[in-house]
Amino acid sequence: MEAIEIKRRRSRRIYVGKVPVGDGAPISVQSMTNTPTSDVAATVAQIRAMEAVGVDIARVSCPDEESTAALKEIVKQVSVPIVADIHFHYKRGIEAAEAGAACLRINPGNIGSAERVREVVRAAKDYNCSIRIGVNGGSLEKALLEKYGEPCPEAMVESALNQAKMLEDEDFFNFKISVKSSDTLMMMKAYRLLAAACDYPLHLGVTEAGGLRAGTVKSALGIGTLLSEGIGDTLRVSLTADVTEEVKVGFEILRALGLRYRGVRIVSCPTCARKGIDVEKIVRSLEERLEHISVPLKLSVLGCVVNGIGEAREADIGVCGGGNGKALLFLHGEQKEQINADEVVEKMVALAEKAAAERQAEETK
Ligand code: SF4
Repeated sequence: MEAIEIKRRRSRRIYVGKVPVGDGAPISVQSMTNTPTSDVAATVAQIRAMEAVGVDIARVSCPDEESTAALKEIVKQVSVPIVADIHFHYKRGIEAAEAGAACLRINPGNIGSAERVREVVRAAKDYNCSIRIGVNGGSLEKALLEKYGEPCPEAMVESALNQAKMLEDEDFFNFKISVKSSDTLMMMKAYRLLAAACDYPLHLGVTEAGGLRAGTVKSALGIGTLLSEGIGDTLRVSLTADVTEEVKVGFEILRALGLRYRGVRIVSCPTCARKGIDVEKIVRSLEERLEHISVPLKLSVLGCVVNGIGEAREADIGVCGGGNGKALLFLHGEQKEQINADEVVEKMVALAEKAAAERQAEETK
């Protein structure tokens, strides 16, 4: 079967540190710390936890001078580029650029005057720092709310383009834009309008999406639908949950759309009366034990031979229930052996680790 490919919107290329964003670059996955940024050790530990699950870009809030002072140390201790999140205080933006932030999330419309915008842009240029204009449906300018009567996609896009113009007037084009809302349909429409109105790279997100389950569903719908239409260059899944979950869900969305693969993907069935192995328990164990693998690997775990053989043939490593407490084990599409059901996890972990090491070695050749 011919692969179904998403045709991505053409956008400009910017860089967040070493990470390219836009113009066909791999869609990067971002997350944000929730430790006090002034607490260097805690913030570095959280960014490292995100790095372990593959984050490309990490954002930290910089509400005060202590935070921008700490940023300098944080940047030194982590590998991924850091985005400094600034609201209102243009001086924090300048300090963050000086401290080594790779990108400033700052809205030029919020910082007071054209002179202040000029100063922030000068710092961004001097320190090779990109900017994200981050429009949020919940905090639109008063004038736009009066014009449109309520937050709406058109008002969000007008805000974004007005702010883009402020940067363009300073001869600054090294920026991306987000138009987030906690309303999934509103954010989707805003991004579609914005995508048609400019060629800047777009940072996707459903803001304040909720807890792990609701937030994952909302983000998969909002971010995933836009990505399926070719819109979006980088993303952040916003969850009231452990920050590493944001990264994992981000990669799951990309993987579900065939846009980017990282780590182990497990195809598994919901099980029914035909199941010959404990699929749920096996999948849970595999997810936990194979989290450290970053190279793409496809596993299948199915309860019986009905669909199990077909799926196992498409996977790097596959297993299905075979009856009488036995399971059939497949490697690269070939049936390898019949094993006891209680051996499945250990065998699959060993084979997955071996396959991952081989793939890694091939990639680094
Ligand atoms: Fe049921 Fe077998 Fe299908 Fe799993 S693969 S849902 S056990 S029929």
